[in-house]
Amino acid sequence: MVDRHGRNITYMRISVTDKCNLRCRYCMPEEGVCSKSHFDMMTEEEIITAVEAAAALGITKVRITGGEPLIKKNILSICRRTAAVEGIGEVCMTTNGILLPRLAKPLKEAGVQRLNLSLDTLDPEKYAYITRIGSLEAFQRGLEAALDAGFEKIKINAVLIGGFNDKEIRSLAQLTMGYPVDMRFIEMMPMYDSGDFDQQAFIPSSKVLDILPEAVAGEQDGGVAKLYRLPGAKGNIGLISPVSAHFCGNCNRIRLTADGKIKPCLHSSDEYSLKGLDFDGMKQVLEEAIWNKPAWHGDLDAQHRSQAGRNMNQIGG
Ligand code: SAM
Ligand code: SF4
Repeated sequence: MVDRHGRNITYMRISVTDKCNLRCRYCMPEEGVCSKSHFDMMTEEEIITAVEAAAALGITKVRITGGEPLIKKNILSICRRTAAVEGIGEVCMTTNGILLPRLAKPLKEAGVQRLNLSLDTLDPEKYAYITRIGSLEAFQRGLEAALDAGFEKIKINAVLIGGFNDKEIRSLAQLTMGYPVDMRFIEMMPMYDSGDFDQQAFIPSSKVLDILPEAVAGEQDGGVAKLYRLPGAKGNIGLISPVSAHFCGNCNRIRLTADGKIKPCLHSSDEYSLKGLDFDGMKQVLEEAIWNKPAWHGDLDAQHRSQAGRNMNQIGG
């Protein structure tokens, strides 16, 4: 369906939980999420009905995210049923990768075609610091499991954080020399509560090119990342610049939160509830949400924090 600004909305990101087995400092508070009542969260049936309603309006691609989607007990069933909805041609997932040794193969069998994994540092101590409770070794086992399961075009996402991983841009980019993966650098967005990391930690994605002068522009794939390639690399370098060069004019996505709110824009407080509705009700609300998708998210900086009213774990990134 085309919104009032002429953008064709074909992509829905679904957060299946706001809980996580890590606690990344820029994403969620140390204490985790204050548990909402089970009854406030979307059931599997409701998620699938929402996918069916969205598909009826022209959504063709779904990304399952969170919080951490792999901690959800019925994640395989949600993926399998989403992939089977008529009109959905692509099901992908964004995950921290920790549970992939157990789940990579079943996810592939359930119809998940592509994975994005999050990795901000290659230093074990820094990984433990940024995630508060994670282990780099566990991430590495997850990446290997995804490759062994036959996932192709894996994307690894790093949030650029000044004073934390700016000295690691080259070593992260060099993962594309050894693995057939894309390495994407994402500008940190000033969310509702981005913890210790704020404006002074912001690095524009252009810094990546300053550090990698040999990177050449690659073939673009129509996604939000601008693609580059190191000579001889097996994958691309991607720059995602929601802050320094927003891509709102080409935005084709909406988001569904774990508590059933459609967010037509990541950084707007506009929310449309699907919870408790049937197919027709959801389709009607989705139509209204898509039509009213804001033109752009406004400036994002220390003075203009995201208006989302939620942290990233409660939206899905
Ligand atoms: N738990 C999964 C993971 O980490 O991949 C999926 C959910 S996580 C919210 C999705 C993505 O959002 C991750 O790549 C994470 O690094 C990114 N993210 C979280 N907070 C962010 C922020 N303030 N600015 C930019 N990206 C952020
Ligand atoms: Fe969890 Fe992902 Fe947020 Fe890290 S970025 S706390 S892994 S939801």
